[in-house]
Amino acid sequence: MRKIGVLALQGGFAEHIAALEKLDVEAVPVRVSGELAGLAGLVIPGGESTTITRLMTEDSLAQAVKGRITGGLPVLGTCAGMVLLARKVSGSSQKTLNAIDIEVRRNAFGRQVDSFEADLEVPALGGGPFHAIFIRAPWIEKVGNGVEVLSRLPDGVPVAAREGNLVVTAFHPELTTDLRLHSYFLSIVDGKRKAKTA
Ligand code: GLN
Repeated sequence: MRKIGVLALQGGFAEHIAALEKLDVEAVPVRVSGELAGLAGLVIPGGESTTITRLMTEDSLAQAVKGRITGGLPVLGTCAGMVLLARKVSGSSQKTLNAIDIEVRRNAFGRQVDSFEADLEVPALGGGPFHAIFIRAPWIEKVGNGVEVLSRLPDGVPVAAREGNLVVTAFHPELTTDLRLHSYFLSIVDGKRKAKTA
């Protein structure tokens, strides 16, 4: 059985584990670098990106995760997880794993729309709109050449992207019963879904 790790230092890891288990994979919490062994994929959940980063550097888990990403490990990062995977955080010197060639703005939607929901077109998923829940969400401000934008808000702001084996969403697919985003990620883990961009 495929074993997928979910970074479980802080934030919404339990919901991701539950979603993955519904898709018949073994989902295990990851808190220390030794737990990365044998994983076929990793999920970095939403939460507070600064807190997760701090906890990841304490036992050099950040370096270990970065090493596995360089080695091709598929990773899904949602919300704060997207911030962690990004190359850069706009207007900030916040450290990231610098794994996917996007620049993100934290808490980009401001106070008024702190949290909101939207039905998004995500063509790569098929099967109609995806109900997306945004909670103090970042957005994607700059996209590198090798990055495929998977979804945009109606005003054009990118909120989901893929580069190679890395998938990021500004929203929380683990908070709905729609498992298509997790399935999409698992198809990358299985090597069944090739990136559009070469
Ligand atoms: N605002 C949070 C951050 O930038 C992300 C919020 C979330 O993950 N729901 O860390």
